[in-house]
Amino acid sequence: MALNRTHNPARRSWLASANDPSTDFPIQNLPFGVFRHGHVTRGGVAIGDRIVDLARAARNGIFTGSAAEAASAASGTVLNPLMRLGRAHAAALRNDLADLLDAGIDKQHRESLEACMVPMAAAELLRPVEIAAFTDFLCSIDHTLRMGRDTLPAAFKHLPIAYNGRATSVIVSGTDIVRPNGQFAGAGGSVVYGPEPWLDFELEMGAFVGVANDLGAPVGIGSADQHIFGFCLVNDWSARGIQFFESTPLGPFLGKSFSTSISPWIVTAEALEPYRVAAVTRIGDDAPPAHLESNENRTSGAFDIELQAFVRTSKMRAQNVAPLCVTTTQFRDMYWTFAQMLAHHASNGCNLHVGDLLGSGTTSGATDASRACLAEITKRGTTQLDFPDGETRAWLEDGDEVILHGHAVRAGYPRLGFGECRGRIVAAPTPSL
Ligand code: CA
Repeated sequence: MALNRTHNPARRSWLASANDPSTDFPIQNLPFGVFRHGHVTRGGVAIGDRIVDLARAARNGIFTGSAAEAASAASGTVLNPLMRLGRAHAAALRNDLADLLDAGIDKQHRESLEACMVPMAAAELLRPVEIAAFTDFLCSIDHTLRMGRDTLPAAFKHLPIAYNGRATSVIVSGTDIVRPNGQFAGAGGSVVYGPEPWLDFELEMGAFVGVANDLGAPVGIGSADQHIFGFCLVNDWSARGIQFFESTPLGPFLGKSFSTSISPWIVTAEALEPYRVAAVTRIGDDAPPAHLESNENRTSGAFDIELQAFVRTSKMRAQNVAPLCVTTTQFRDMYWTFAQMLAHHASNGCNLHVGDLLGSGTTSGATDASRACLAEITKRGTTQLDFPDGETRAWLEDGDEVILHGHAVRAGYPRLGFGECRGRIVAAPTPSL
């Protein structure tokens, strides 16, 4: 995709908070989400510290043509109808919104849009998409090596390994995470049923499918990017005791399906276009198979996104201590790109639906500072994570909060943020017997 004027890094908005260098949502971002303000739920676009209410803007006749159709489609409780219209409609709305938010717009247009904006702090952000299916991949070579005790599965360098996850328990940032009960290895070869003792987070990126493919009709690597509507942050909460006990031979089940958190804003593929970088160089490795490789993927298939995970205990929260950054990692270092994940997913003819969510897998890098889950940080609970107030953790305890951040970065361009992906652990319910 060619860059257009919505990507112009010099562009400024008349909304001061959108020009603050620390904002996640400058005029070049314009991510889509769903929010509740008062009693009504509808689609919106984030700009600075505000949300543009697309339902009101559509009703007030602010947009015309494809942009108006897109705003109407985004007026409901999920964004699937907007995604179904195709990326050109979302692009038209993005273009017109950027013009209306531009510092150079006249007073009348500015005031008409201002009447359709609400403070983000006064809104509740909801899950933006009806997710038909969630698939979680395994794209970090460093995560795979650390979790596999320095051994890569035979298939790892031939295809992006994945499993079919659970879509119904994908929840939006801010929703509490109930510690699951389950079965895991206890002392002396016993098997225990009870609250998961080794609760963990996984810092991931997610991609939403925006174009479906028919059953039996694979998606070529050359068009795979066109099937992705946009991206979010994902915390693939993991119950390691349950996971390690149950996963042979069919893979994770209850250890993953209890909850998966996503950030509320979908940063569009179009917004991320300037932040594309070359896919990781496979030094000494065979090239991927032809159906998973293209020149375009090699030269610009990855995105330069810096990811961070923070942890705050309930004691730190009570004492107003800032969350501790426990991971900083680079999404560009993943061994497989989202285009390769999507092409692989559909390569057997599996039909992907609009609104399907693909998770990248834990995004760990090579350095200790870029280990993107506690199982890596504490070496499966055998060491501990130290907090500034003297507390320690091998795994997450009740009351602990995990906060994910992500920012697309490129020299000369504004930093595009994804908003927060936040979740707090609450105690397991009494086991049902
Ligand atoms: Ca995962």
